[in-house]
Amino acid sequence: MKIRYFDHAATTSVDEEVLNAMIPYFSQNYGNPSSIYSIGKENKEIISLARMKIATILNCKVNEIYFTSGGTESDNMILKGIAFANRKYGNHIITSKIEHSAILNTCEFLEKFGFRITYITPNSKGIINPKDIERAITRNTSLISIMYANNEIGTIQPIDEIAKIAQKYGVYFHTDSVQAVGNILIDVKKSNIGALSMSGHKFYGPKGIGIAYINEKINFLRMQDGGHQERDKRAGTENVPGIVGITKALELANNNIITYNRKLKNLRDYYISEVEERIPNIKINGDMNSRLSGNANISFSGVDGSKLVEMLSEQGICTSSGSACSAGFVNSSHVLLAMGIPKFLAKSALRVTFGKENTIEDTKFLLDALEESVKKLRKI
Ligand SMILES: *Cc1c(COP(=O)(O)O)cnc(C)c1O
Repeated sequence: MKIRYFDHAATTSVDEEVLNAMIPYFSQNYGNPSSIYSIGKENKEIISLARMKIATILNCKVNEIYFTSGGTESDNMILKGIAFANRKYGNHIITSKIEHSAILNTCEFLEKFGFRITYITPNSKGIINPKDIERAITRNTSLISIMYANNEIGTIQPIDEIAKIAQKYGVYFHTDSVQAVGNILIDVKKSNIGALSMSGHKFYGPKGIGIAYINEKINFLRMQDGGHQERDKRAGTENVPGIVGITKALELANNNIITYNRKLKNLRDYYISEVEERIPNIKINGDMNSRLSGNANISFSGVDGSKLVEMLSEQGICTSSGSACSAGFVNSSHVLLAMGIPKFLAKSALRVTFGKENTIEDTKFLLDALEESVKKLRKI
């Protein structure tokens, strides 16, 4: 069966050019970057070249880039690292209710260690109001962490404004940019971003590799002890193929960002207008203006979102429902609930996220299957 993939917010395939760049580092060029013979030193050079390229793209210094195992590790390293190192200045952290679990569960961990967390509620369109953040700041606030773009509804947050507020009050600012990278050009200096997380597999790079940017002025505690890699801040033998891959993927993504966004927006807007025309009783979730171009999140009233995903999957179509199934219970999306969307609509959401291999023909196939599946599920 032909697979039609509309779940690019979950992961993407590795670009062929990225894969080709990585291959030599699995076999011929396998040296440990910490070794002092040629094949080790060469890989150390490759890593510093990669760090330079990333720093140039993000507009930061090379010593502000750390390679990690992905978005989750970057989020943990930054939140825990900054929280514990700056505890004497304050134990209060501000984040939002619509963050990824990598942030929310890290905050829950920190609460167990005496940190106090404020979770900001978004508006009904899934946007955080910077004024709500300003109001939440206290003398004890050490860190604000707000995601750049949301993984479920694709809303883009007013990061520059939030960063300015953080700067005004002398509070560190981190943004989980995992969904934004590859879709939005990020300049950490221009945007006053203190720390940022990204992940290779969300922009056609490999899984298991991520980047943490942390401004050199920010003091943070190392979370992973061991060898002296990453300037003593993140121990463990470097993932050389992964580092080569994520760097290539970032270069390609940024070079193609305009045509990529145009393509995704065309497919997404066509999809939404067809759904509106063909299927009654639907609700589009999330702001349509400040939004990633490839994201469509729609509730089909009276339909169980996870059943819809299953039914589409029988026809080779990969999509996602916002709900997470844990221990046999279907939980509605915490993002949609935080926006004030009633539970019955939150449970009936379908997330479709477009990517570079999607075509208009695939989208038509998706629309036909969707129309039919929604009809069937509404009859049951
Ligand atoms: C995917 C994702 C993560 C986790 O990244 P991994 O590399 O899969 O650990 C974190 N935050 C957001 C917003 C994501 O979309």
